[in-house]
Amino acid sequence: MKPKINHDECIGDGICEEICPEVFELRDDGLAYVIEEDPDDSLFDKVEEAVEECPTSAITVEE
Ligand code: SF4
Repeated sequence: MKPKINHDECIGDGICEEICPEVFELRDDGLAYVIEEDPDDSLFDKVEEAVEECPTSAITVEE
């Protein structure tokens, strides 16, 4: 599982970090970053929730 964030779409509301701080981090530049490039499968549900809850659909996950 390889989560990615499209920074052209991210509006920096930090929802992804709230849902899964193990993988996503909101930084001072107002954008969220992936801090765990290959998360353990145990985090799959939380990553998927972040994908669904992101208001701009900026997060994608490649298998
Ligand atoms: S939930 Fe989406 S828009 Fe919000 S900070 Fe995360 S990637 Fe950016």
